[in-house]
Amino acid sequence: MINASLKELATALGAKQISSVELTQLFLDRINRLNPEINAYITLDADRSLAQAAAADALIAQGKAGPLTGIPFAQKDIFCAQGWRTTCGSKMLENFVAPYDAHIISQFDNAGAVNLGKTNMDEFAMGSSNETSYFGKVQNPWDRARVPGGSSGGSAAAVAARLAPAATGTDTGGSIRQPASLCGLSGLKPTYGVCSRYGMIAFASSLDQAGPMAKSAEDLALMMNVMAGFDTRDSTSLQRDTEDYTRDLNQPLKGLRIGLPREYFADGLDAGVAKVVLDAIEQYRKLGAETVEVSLPNTQLSIPVYYVLAPAEASSNLSRYDGVRYGHRAAEYTDLMDMYCKTRAEGFGAEVKRRIMVGTYVLSAGYYDAYYLKAQQLRRLIAQDFEQAFKQCDVIMGPAAPGTAFKTGEKTNDPVAMYLEDLYTIAVNLAGLPGMSVPAGFSNGLPVGLQIIGNYFSEARMLNIGHQYQQVTDWHKQMPQGIE
Ligand code: GLN
Repeated sequence: MINASLKELATALGAKQISSVELTQLFLDRINRLNPEINAYITLDADRSLAQAAAADALIAQGKAGPLTGIPFAQKDIFCAQGWRTTCGSKMLENFVAPYDAHIISQFDNAGAVNLGKTNMDEFAMGSSNETSYFGKVQNPWDRARVPGGSSGGSAAAVAARLAPAATGTDTGGSIRQPASLCGLSGLKPTYGVCSRYGMIAFASSLDQAGPMAKSAEDLALMMNVMAGFDTRDSTSLQRDTEDYTRDLNQPLKGLRIGLPREYFADGLDAGVAKVVLDAIEQYRKLGAETVEVSLPNTQLSIPVYYVLAPAEASSNLSRYDGVRYGHRAAEYTDLMDMYCKTRAEGFGAEVKRRIMVGTYVLSAGYYDAYYLKAQQLRRLIAQDFEQAFKQCDVIMGPAAPGTAFKTGEKTNDPVAMYLEDLYTIAVNLAGLPGMSVPAGFSNGLPVGLQIIGNYFSEARMLNIGHQYQQVTDWHKQMPQGIE
């Protein structure tokens, strides 16, 4: 059961080989056994999970089951879930119990799915290693001394260690694709606006996007059918016809034009990762695809641009944590100003404070034009790079991350080295495009992800491209040792 696909789980539930309560309990038992070390989950609430499972079993008995009914999912602790503690990885929200559901959470609820627990993450989704979490680091199940990636590191570790069949993540600059790559999973960041951000704690609103993390592209497609959709409560949610993301899974790839950006195979890419990625592309040629070299000339600018814009938006979004309305409040203070200062000094970790300071600086009157405005202009050029590239190809392929999982602590004292982890993922967020990572092999025993970048709204095609590859390879079925 722990290796089953979502489709197999649905079949087993439908055939009454297992009940949702039993399946949920099976994962809760595994979590109880393995989570104390892996630390993939921040909050568990077995009673709530099992009550949802019992309700799902009733739906199944009545013949009212949908494709995800009764299946337990791990939810990144950035999504508000009514009655659940929702921390966003921060001391600031250590005792915050969400009074309402995020759109994504209610979509899973409406599908009859079970919330298995809230997963660990970098504080306010700022990080690439899950080491900025107030609730401690997360182990990479493939090598416990290494990071799972971030910021959706808890979700990634949970699925990799088979502590959940699948999970949700969010991706502002790579936080679904990079941990998927480092943990040997499939992960999709949809086009900006496809999944509602309502109730998803904001980091950088113009970049944040929710998406699924699972073992296979087929599982991602089934989750997208639940996660995507218009929501009036998010002003950037897109009103589009409902899509079936599984519809193209079995299309042949003959004639597919794959663009290989020169800049993605240049300095900074680990040789072992490059080899795995190039082998995967060779496999696509065997499936009938053609490759063409393309250029994304502003790739090098994406990190500096992102690290101006994301902190700017974060500094504004995080101003709500003032100790007045909800969240942490300092125990002792002299006056209102002192209360604000002590609350925020105590409640936020170092990386979050760094971002707030950078963001406030680049938005300040004297520096706005030089940094924020300039970064916005460059953001446009980065988007245009993709526009040009997509005239020559249907999808772009390359690495998802420059290396494999690094050692815990290796980059914690060097923020810039940490930021460079996002070299291949950030531009996609700046352009609002969909990006996906699929397991493509191993380098020195550690998983490597292949990134597939599509044009706007081409998720169904991208999932098809991932699925066809997974029909002829079994990288996505590999499981770390020691988690049996
Ligand atoms: N690693 C990037 C950052 O620290 C991206 C994080 C994310 O996508 N949430 O901001």
